[in-house]
Amino acid sequence: MEKIIIIGGGPAGLFAAYKLLKKGKAVALYDHSSGLGKKFLVAGNGGLNLTHSEELKVFASRYGKDEELFLELINEFTPDDLRAFCSELGVETFVGSSGRVFPKKLKAAEILLNWTKILKENENFSLFLNHSLISINQNKELSFKNEGKEVLVHGDKIIMALGGGSWKKTGSDGAWVSMFENLGIKVNALLPMNCGFEKKWSEYFIKNVDRYPLKNIALRFKDQIIKGEAMLTPFGIEGGGVYALSNKIRDELLKKGRANLFLDLKPDLTAEQIEAKLADKKAKTSLSNHLRKSIGIEKEQFILLKEISSTEPDKNIKSLKLELTGIRPIDEAISTSGGVCFSELTNFFELKKIPGVYIAGEMLDFEAPTGGYLLQACFSTANRIVESI
Ligand SMILES: Cc1cc2nc3c(=O)[nH]c(=O)nc-3n(C[C@H](O)[C@H](O)[C@H](O)COP(=O)(O)OP(=O)(O)OC[C@H]3O[C@@H](n4cnc5c(N)ncnc54)[C@H](O)[C@@H]3O)c2cc1C
Repeated sequence: MEKIIIIGGGPAGLFAAYKLLKKGKAVALYDHSSGLGKKFLVAGNGGLNLTHSEELKVFASRYGKDEELFLELINEFTPDDLRAFCSELGVETFVGSSGRVFPKKLKAAEILLNWTKILKENENFSLFLNHSLISINQNKELSFKNEGKEVLVHGDKIIMALGGGSWKKTGSDGAWVSMFENLGIKVNALLPMNCGFEKKWSEYFIKNVDRYPLKNIALRFKDQIIKGEAMLTPFGIEGGGVYALSNKIRDELLKKGRANLFLDLKPDLTAEQIEAKLADKKAKTSLSNHLRKSIGIEKEQFILLKEISSTEPDKNIKSLKLELTGIRPIDEAISTSGGVCFSELTNFFELKKIPGVYIAGEMLDFEAPTGGYLLQACFSTANRIVESI
């Protein structure tokens, strides 16, 4: 029986294992962590967004420069296929009001438990935890470190799904990048994606606002506007709306060292409507009270307005300029851009320089916003590889 080696037990590696076993292949899965799917579990902390229910052409457009490739990939393994897979695992999913797809219990634990149980019960599956891949050569000889000892393994077919470079404590440390570069394989640098940004606040602001969620706002960077939410933090700003703009803001910061993000705290009111609502301020009412009572500007939002313009805080409600000065560390990012360049790979994500070695999941050089697009990419890329084996 043909045995396939998989390295990396995140969603991409685990899905490849599941499909290969179903195809009647034997699988040996290696991971340097003490457990499987650690980042997947973390992803479930804030509600596991598995995929999205939008039309596939719109879905594919989320992958920017790789839109065409992803249109093919998600047609081959669709968001509905991903939901059917969850159902095979005994986990029900639902479509939220935003069109995003979640497991009914919102968490990743049930999926992971049922998934790994099926793998472990299969006699053709062997698992090697605490095995850290340290090198691979042109002859597909793999060297792992396990409890201080070197373990050598040879594989004819190897699937690598080592993840990106954020949240190192989950095992995805991006250390594979130099391993690949040593083999002459082009890797685009891993950069934070879906990440927060730094803004220098005053001590007063940090003391009085600390962390504060800005809900139902609009965020504008250059010509892109996103309606959503953001979280003010002592370091700057993060959250869904910021993540959606994060690749553009990041690139501007890398180029120029500064980037201006504009917030509209009342996107549902026009400037004229705001002016009309604020027109009859009584002399004894403070401005903060007036803004709160007339248009619902909360105390923390008022401090934010004053932080940016102490003289005319009410004039900036629809276009509050935040001067961002840095990118939050890669370790805090939800995902990373960059990875193994597609030019190094065949259509089946097989390394041209080392035939028989395949690359799946976040290791690949693509980027996508949050919304289920990352996990769908992991499943769809693993699917194409297994279909070709
Ligand atoms: C806080 C947070 C929330 C998220 N929420 C969502 C969400 O709601 N929806 C969504 O679509 N995505 C979300 N993501 C992103 C998603 O979890 C990742 O894109 C996905 O886990 C990547 O899967 P992967 O299989 O490619 O890699 P990973 O899940 O990163 O797995 C890689 C595996 O490889 C192993 N490994 C790495 N190097 C070695 C080595 N040298 N030797 C042996 N093993 C190694 C690691 O231990 C790990 O188990 C979130 C991420 C974070 C951090």
